[in-house]
Amino acid sequence: MTSSSKSENLFEFASKYLVAGVSGSARLNAALGRPVYLTHGDGCRLYDVDGKVYIDYNLSHGATFLGHNHPLIRKGIQQALDMGVICAYETEYHSRLAEMICRVVPCAEQVRFANSGSEATFSAIRLARTLTGKQKLLKFEGHFHGLHDYVVWNAHGPVRDALPTYPYVPAFVETAGVPPQLADLVIVIPWNDPAAFRQAIREHEHEIAAVICEPVNYNSGCILPEPGMLELIREETAKRGIVLIFDEVLSSFRMAAGGAQEYYKVTPDVCTLAKAVANGLPLAVVAGKRDFMKVLSPLGPAAHSGTYSGHLFSILAGLASLGFYDRIFATAKQLYGGLQGLLDAHQVPARVQGLGARFGIYFGVTKEVKNYQEAARIEGELGLRFIRACFERGVYFHNYGKMALGHHGFSAAHTAADITETLTKVEDALKTMKK
Ligand code: PLP
Repeated sequence: MTSSSKSENLFEFASKYLVAGVSGSARLNAALGRPVYLTHGDGCRLYDVDGKVYIDYNLSHGATFLGHNHPLIRKGIQQALDMGVICAYETEYHSRLAEMICRVVPCAEQVRFANSGSEATFSAIRLARTLTGKQKLLKFEGHFHGLHDYVVWNAHGPVRDALPTYPYVPAFVETAGVPPQLADLVIVIPWNDPAAFRQAIREHEHEIAAVICEPVNYNSGCILPEPGMLELIREETAKRGIVLIFDEVLSSFRMAAGGAQEYYKVTPDVCTLAKAVANGLPLAVVAGKRDFMKVLSPLGPAAHSGTYSGHLFSILAGLASLGFYDRIFATAKQLYGGLQGLLDAHQVPARVQGLGARFGIYFGVTKEVKNYQEAARIEGELGLRFIRACFERGVYFHNYGKMALGHHGFSAAHTAADITETLTKVEDALKTMKK
């Protein structure tokens, strides 16, 4: 890895005052051993303090869907400035954005705003518990729903053998500080296993408030739902009075304006959106059918509010955020096909899996990855070498460390020429990896 003195110095200074030198643990790029220190971002490019330029395939963990410094987002922010940065008041723009979301997201009849994806999943789960009077959450191994205590289970758990207590995956908590009693509130099963789902839902029907899933499991790279899986979940939850939550924090707007629920034509009761929804400004959404959303306060007894909920900056950025669906699949084909072709040509065993604007690269794997256990068996060291070699050549991929498989993406600002340039640099990187 090329170490750059100004970045290194900043990291040393930051480490004195910020815990581990970062504002959040995921800021560290585990392949580099430090965060990147930027002067600015523009379009699909990042500019660091050492004068280096990178084509960005992290994009703020998936938030910057239109690219950095987008003129429409700047305009939205300017409008919020002109309005006096009023905060914790309603404006006409809040309901306009809510209406826009209800128009495009299939399950959305009403919405509430929040600041982060974690906050949104927390509120969606509270809503489900209120509505059903039941307490448990059924989730899938490898699916990530944020860092609050109810969901920090089995998103990046250990590699394991066959399950002794099939279909149940032993609860694995991802952080210290969670009361162990909360393990009783979560049921974890493997993804893309219809028999496991059928059995678990049958055995726990009377205590499950909600089933939550990433309809496309981007947090394990990019694992698609097997045909019929989402339909099965929909059918069984509807039949049994269990709330179905699609966590579309990462999949929202990614392959269709209405997210994975539009793409797969399966409509949950409630969904959570974030990241791309305001293109890098803090905004998350709980959206759902009116009969479900009505339990939120003050209509119903489930508290939901916050000083910064629906901050004006984020709302106006959200109103400015448009998709680019006319060419998203063409860009995906050029990038994913190009990367796979190069990996194959250079005999680096790896599989590129993507849908819409986000993708994963599984090193050491050559057949389709269908669940977390297959994803967790990647050759991690090979992936880290790839990221470092690309970084030296000006292509930025992020690695989240042992807690997470990488997930990557492109934005509306990535042109065909940018992808071609990326592929040339990646080819150069792959040549050195062979040595
Ligand atoms: N849900 C999913 C699917 C996510 O990918 C993430 C973040 O990556 C979250 C929830 C948590 O979102 P946030 O980081 O905004 O709290």
